Amino acid sequence: MPIPDKSTSSEATPAAAPETISAARKIYPIVKYGDSILEKPTAPVKNFDADLEQLAEDMFASMYAAQGVGLAAPQIGLNLRVAVVDVTAGKNPEAKIVLANPEIIHAEGEKREEEGCLSIPGFRGYVLRPQFVTIKAQNAKGESFEIRGEDLLARAFCHEIDHLNGILFIQHLSMLKRDLIKRKIKKLKKQGEW
Ligand SMILES: [Zn+2]
Repeated sequence: MPIPDKSTSSEATPAAAPETISAARKIYPIVKYGDSILEKPTAPVKNFDADLEQLAEDMFASMYAAQGVGLAAPQIGLNLRVAVVDVTAGKNPEAKIVLANPEIIHAEGEKREEEGCLSIPGFRGYVLRPQFVTIKAQNAKGESFEIRGEDLLARAFCHEIDHLNGILFIQHLSMLKRDLIKRKIKKLKKQGEW
């Protein structure tokens, strides 16, 4: 999920990667809408090893490079039930959340906000999401935890868990709006711009 418009407009900070990212990190290209991997449910994480920890750090680096607040494994071409979220977009290292095998266990309230997706760049739409969400997940070491998110964090959890289930935000839009976006993407593809 990209940084919401509201927060970017008032920010003078350039898109430079945060200093916590070492040069050794791999920056993955983001898979765009149209690739079938984005619309398939993912396989659960079973191996919690050094490779997974490295993957999670590379996903954070890739997400920051793309100016995102959330990134799911299918978006870098991997069929794996893992996502990363940082609604501070790299400003606070303590806000980094690795979600392996996440599930929503409680949702409360409603909030309609504009949403976008790093895999559908240039398009946004209003999506109704719960205002509060509690999820259960494992970290990169395999330790289980529960976390409650509000507003943008709740939205990011829902958006990324949707990705892991093969669902994109445009599926929450009206058919009219969704078809309009699909038509525009088709046109961009024809022009070689997608
Ligand atoms: Zn997305």
